[in-house]
Amino acid sequence: MVSPDFEYRLLGGVDELFQPPDDLRRAYRREGVQAASARMIVQLVERLITTASKGGPATLGLANTLAAGFAGRVYHLLLDESYAAPAVRCDNCGYVGVEDASVCPLCEADLRVLPDAADSLVRWAMTQDLEVTFLHDDALRETGHIGAFLRY
Ligand SMILES: [Zn+2]
Repeated sequence: MVSPDFEYRLLGGVDELFQPPDDLRRAYRREGVQAASARMIVQLVERLITTASKGGPATLGLANTLAAGFAGRVYHLLLDESYAAPAVRCDNCGYVGVEDASVCPLCEADLRVLPDAADSLVRWAMTQDLEVTFLHDDALRETGHIGAFLRY
């Protein structure tokens, strides 16, 4: 998904190419684009929270999102732009979690600390060609800063 900011700049650029300079109309159109993008984000987050709270194919919070990623179920990752949090990873079996432990609960190998698990998730999602949306949204912030839509 194109970020609102980028979309805004993109459309501003198109305007300047194809429209005569008309400050008022241009300003109105740009505001319209921003409002549409903001509404889209609100709807996306609402759908995520509703789906997750009904036990549907969505997760909220770092622990659940990491678990879904470990299971290969994530197809669209959504997170707060400024979110960062640590997690642990097992290099032996690939397990990831948020618990404060030094030994893997699955295979008992040593766990490694990921200083910024959100960043690790984003990098991982990009290598898997998954959709990633960065956003600012109060509802998402209140429900754990990060979530994902799942394949099943
Ligand atoms: Zn392990």
